[in-house]
Amino acid sequence: MLRTTVLGRSHLKSSGFSFLVKQMWGPPSGHAVRPERWCSQHSCAPGDENHALHPLWTGPVSVPGGTRQSPINIRGRDSVYDPRLRPLRVSYAAASCLNVWNTGYLFQVEFDDAAEGSGISGGPLENHYRLRQFHFHWGSANEWGSEHTVDGRVYPAELHLVHWNSVKYPNYKEAVVGENGLAVIGVFLKVGARHPTLQKLVDILPAVKHKGAQVAMGPFDPSCLLPTCRDYWTYAGSLTTPPLSESVTWVIQKQPIEVAQDQLSAFRSLLFSAPGEERWTMVNNYRPLQPLMNREVRSSFQATEGAQDPSINYPQ
Ligand SMILES: [Zn+2]
Repeated sequence: MLRTTVLGRSHLKSSGFSFLVKQMWGPPSGHAVRPERWCSQHSCAPGDENHALHPLWTGPVSVPGGTRQSPINIRGRDSVYDPRLRPLRVSYAAASCLNVWNTGYLFQVEFDDAAEGSGISGGPLENHYRLRQFHFHWGSANEWGSEHTVDGRVYPAELHLVHWNSVKYPNYKEAVVGENGLAVIGVFLKVGARHPTLQKLVDILPAVKHKGAQVAMGPFDPSCLLPTCRDYWTYAGSLTTPPLSESVTWVIQKQPIEVAQDQLSAFRSLLFSAPGEERWTMVNNYRPLQPLMNREVRSSFQATEGAQDPSINYPQ
């Protein structure tokens, strides 16, 4: 089976989402180079260790309607500039960073969200949202890995900073399933200059190589992982992992950050598998694109007419 289908396709089929699958696998449009399409045109190497269906997508998952699923392809031309969108206010305290752990699907850096230590407000948000965790999604090669795409362009990886609405809800668990419960900042990663602050995290990764491993992180301010330019797109979406709750206000940064090739390679040295289990490399842990349906993507900036926006630095 195609490796990139394993992280969502079967799940979709089994939960009444066959129409989404049809759209996702329908005739190609635009310049999309999503790996599922790449994979559908080229047989993946036999014996590839990531052919199997990841357990994350094998069990029953809760999908509350399926009208605002994520990720999506952001079409710059169709996004609507909204001059009322304010800059996003980001206030992170390095001391609230707790630990990093290998969830068996990705690695996650968790924060103390018992108090208003780290959070965001402004932008498209009407409330203050506390930082709960951040994590990445990435591919087995630089040609794919991000969950969202921009005009069909895929990045090698994507950072998600996950926040919950601490004004409306008492805790993360209730916010996940609540209206306006979550706000996730998405940041694309491209290969380029070494990212000095990311290196601190990269240095820790060997300690969480296997599923279930967890280590203390020490102080870490994730605002260093945000791009210099804070222009963004925003839309109403969902979590991209089960339970796929449609409670997320997405804030996708237009400008990617740069990381060195060996920093990205360190992500790919992690394992989905626990000690003693068959070795299973942690790559391609992204969900395939979902249909936009009846949604509008708003931008905090005015799109450049005609040619691609040069500040986006599309991957080649
Ligand atoms: Zn994510």
